[in-house]
Amino acid sequence: MDAAASGALRGRWTEVRQRVEAAARRSGRKPTDVLLVVVTKSGSIDQIRELVQFGQVDMAENRVQQLVQRAASVGEWLQRRREMDPKAELPTVRWHMIGSLQRNKVRKCMEVARLIHGVDSLRLAEEIQAAAVRRETPMEVLVEVNVSGEDSKHGIAPPAVRHLLDQMDTMLNLKVRGLMCMAPLSGGTEAARRTFDRCREIFEDCRTSGAGGDRFDLLSMGMSGDFEVAIECGANLVRVGGAVIGPPQVEEPPEEA
Ligand SMILES: *Cc1c(COP(=O)(O)O)cnc(C)c1O
Repeated sequence: MDAAASGALRGRWTEVRQRVEAAARRSGRKPTDVLLVVVTKSGSIDQIRELVQFGQVDMAENRVQQLVQRAASVGEWLQRRREMDPKAELPTVRWHMIGSLQRNKVRKCMEVARLIHGVDSLRLAEEIQAAAVRRETPMEVLVEVNVSGEDSKHGIAPPAVRHLLDQMDTMLNLKVRGLMCMAPLSGGTEAARRTFDRCREIFEDCRTSGAGGDRFDLLSMGMSGDFEVAIECGANLVRVGGAVIGPPQVEEPPEEA
């Protein structure tokens, strides 16, 4: 990657980090209380490597195939870099799966993902539980809530969240770390704020009642257009793509059928 492109990427990344930190302070939290996950789905491999060198640890993809390929490619590159320069301080990337996950891709996904954000059915949870039996640590997941009811395809309805969490509590190889939601496509900032506020309420209700157990502590909401609103509403994990990546570098693969 040439110096100008690298500089522009670093500029966008730094600005987003500063905006995340400012929003955290505005909402009475420490900058380190909010985790920035960079969504790399429209970025290039070169950009991901640059981001790793800047110190960005958490990256997300929404397609299993691209997730697995990129995790392998970046992992090999990191290993070569460390062999060349054992003193180099390079982080190990934590990969997040943020798209809708088909049951037949669960095993593949679990080979690399640290956190699966979009669990939205008992059947998917059961598939993950079954695939995780031989793991040393439970697979960590978030339950996706369809707060706005707008897109009926992804996320479970708010009244069904508690029941799903109770069922998932009995799955020992899986650990629910919290909730994830998306703002509606239309309605602008106000609709986003209502959605995020509602999701925060559901999150707090679950926590207070003990559903999800200990370490139910992640609330994943907010993207490039609304991450500051999301943080003000209580998000402690934001998923930001375009604002860091800039114009798309690769064509997004079609929705996995
Ligand atoms: C693509 C994507 C994002 C990031 O969107 P940007 O608008 O590029 O920041 C966040 N979450 C999910 C689930 C996505 O698919």
